[in-house]
Amino acid sequence: MEEKRVGSSTLFLCGECGLAYLEKSCVEKCEAWCKKHSSCPIEIISHAVAD
Ligand SMILES: [Zn+2]
Repeated sequence: MEEKRVGSSTLFLCGECGLAYLEKSCVEKCEAWCKKHSSCPIEIISHAVAD
């Protein structure tokens, strides 16, 4: 997981797929999923932030 400052907020980046999330819990789910399935679950992607 990587953290990235954007303006006044911090985004968390999935270390596997690179999607950015505002919530750490989402990126943890995404990373766990990506490692297992090498694709992202749509319900987690819907929480991703456009970069
Ligand atoms: Zn991911």
